[in-house]
Amino acid sequence: LSQHRSVCRLCGGFCGIVVDIEDGRLVRVAGDADHPDSEGYTCAKGRALPTFLGSPSRLDFPLLHGSRVSWAEVLDDLATSIRDIVERQGPNAIGTYGGTAEIADRAGQWARVKLGGMLGTRQMYSSNTVDIAPIWKASELVMGVARTTCPVWEPERPESPRVCVVIGSNPVVSHGYGGLVPGTNPIVRVRRFRNQGGQLWVLDPRTTETALVADRHLPVLPGSDAVVLAWLVRELLLHGADLEELRDHTDADDVGRLEDAVAPFTIDVAVEHAGVDRETLLELLLAIRSAGKIACITGTGVSFGRRATVTEWLRWALLIVTGSLDRPGGMRFLGSYTSDLASRASWNHAGPDGDDADGPASRPELRSWLGEYPSVAMVDEIKAGSLSGLIIAGGNPLTSMPQPARTRQALSELPMLAVCDVVRNELTGLATHVLPVADMFEHDELMLRERASFIPAVVPRSGERMPQWWVLSQIAQRLGLDLLRGNDPDEMTDAAVLRLIAGDNPAVDTVMAAGVHGLVRERACGWVHERVLPNGRWRIAPRPLVDLLAEMTAPPVPGIRLVSRRLARRVNSVAYSSPRGDGTDADVMINPVDAAEFGLRSGDDVVVASAHGSVTGRARVDDRMRCGSVSVSHGLVDANVSSLIAAATDVDVLSGQPAMSGVAVTVTRFQKMSTPGREDIALAVRPERS
Ligand code: SF4
Repeated sequence: LSQHRSVCRLCGGFCGIVVDIEDGRLVRVAGDADHPDSEGYTCAKGRALPTFLGSPSRLDFPLLHGSRVSWAEVLDDLATSIRDIVERQGPNAIGTYGGTAEIADRAGQWARVKLGGMLGTRQMYSSNTVDIAPIWKASELVMGVARTTCPVWEPERPESPRVCVVIGSNPVVSHGYGGLVPGTNPIVRVRRFRNQGGQLWVLDPRTTETALVADRHLPVLPGSDAVVLAWLVRELLLHGADLEELRDHTDADDVGRLEDAVAPFTIDVAVEHAGVDRETLLELLLAIRSAGKIACITGTGVSFGRRATVTEWLRWALLIVTGSLDRPGGMRFLGSYTSDLASRASWNHAGPDGDDADGPASRPELRSWLGEYPSVAMVDEIKAGSLSGLIIAGGNPLTSMPQPARTRQALSELPMLAVCDVVRNELTGLATHVLPVADMFEHDELMLRERASFIPAVVPRSGERMPQWWVLSQIAQRLGLDLLRGNDPDEMTDAAVLRLIAGDNPAVDTVMAAGVHGLVRERACGWVHERVLPNGRWRIAPRPLVDLLAEMTAPPVPGIRLVSRRLARRVNSVAYSSPRGDGTDADVMINPVDAAEFGLRSGDDVVVASAHGSVTGRARVDDRMRCGSVSVSHGLVDANVSSLIAAATDVDVLSGQPAMSGVAVTVTRFQKMSTPGREDIALAVRPERS
């Protein structure tokens, strides 16, 4: 038995871990008490990695149309398929999709994107446009740059704000989604924050795990976040704004346009939309005014909304109006360790209406941005015959995309579907080419985030698994493309490829020498004002967002609204640990008052139906849900919010992200009628309320 320090990279928590290796196999994962960020913390997913990675479903050998073959056979066949498709239809008939699991494989992700670029295809997709795109779109419209850097909440830092408002985010369960940095060890860090006098406010229709450790929880109705934020901005512009920040770092015309845009959002409107009493909202406003500078973070509860980019923009507006961004006492902007953003001389700014290009022909209303098409268009492109070959790595569109049955049908009809993954799943079952790749403990990793570290492999690759960069560069080689700049894939190591990607940046050597615990580059506030903002000014009222906000003044439509929830044992579309032993992951959570009205009790079988689809599940009557909302999990195979939305219409138009929250639904109790040899039939026993 040997022990090694490593870092869990299943999610953005990046917890330091100690792994036990026996006979070349991972047998135990425990927290690394000496890791400066995580201090010994791990979650159930990280601790279950030996079971997940050592499961009988583990992919060890390449498969071609379901049969085991050699690497040479599968790669030759795949290269031939790609060449044939390109010759017939052009490079845009080949696409790639990268999922969240690529977070654990920097070189593999680089190789996928590079291969797509060398092929010359525009059909590049990723999970960026399935869960985080509105955050980056708002950043692009307000700051002129997307993705490079976003403000973070660092609860323990003495100079951090004393009030944090969390909207539609559950960092206790969904680590490192963005906002709370580092994302690890959330409960202890929230407690420290509160012990140091910090106040945590949570706005969420559900009493989430984060709400349980907060000072105040406002159970706002699904889809009302933008209205509450618009009201807060309105009130703060009237009294409590940081006038110096507005004078020196915004345009007066922009501020006037913002004032006009939020003017209709009075407290009466906020109360009506949020379903929260006036006094509670006023207490939130008072807390913000008293604090002066605040932190405000959002999550998928916001970014899954139909007007998610509007909500994200209003969060930026709230932070700018209170002078909370890039100022001592507010939220800092970080960057990667090696790219010294704070001293970069010039930035390419997007235009005032954003930086996008023509989107996919089958969905002309969607735009291409971040060098990608929105993932929601992928199925349309397949159905239109424009996309015939797809390489998927580290994700599962079957469980993350709208309308799973439609997605399944489209993917199964592809002439070529190559999947790089570590375990068998429903997606690999559809694949023409299954490419078993090294897991996170079988390859070296170079992490260049705010904490930069070099994490060596701790076990040899077993079976015939190969690194994803090797697989994709072998395909490139067969197509006559030079992915590794003249280097033979068989002669390269993980570390050599990681150095190749990093270029000649001398900081990489420093990071590689620093090892697993790595290094952090300190960044003072002020660099975004000085170097990043277009002319030193926030674009506080982008016209496309102002126009969309104007459409949101209509009274809310009564009825039950859907919220999706994240599960502690999954990362988006992939389960990394067994479901909860009590079988509650797929439960449909509903408030006791709504349950009584529908005649429901815990344990009843229910159908949750929207205008576009339905899921069945077991009701869990739970007063942690607020009245008027029902919660269904995200990412499960069966009871999945993806079944309740339509790819064509439930989309945040600016970012192209599917909207999986705030959708109108009905809940109906049913009885299963079982006939031997036939599928169960659901018989409704009570009509739905709305
Ligand atoms: S929070 Fe869990 S899954 Fe995420 S990095 Fe830490 S141990 Fe891994």
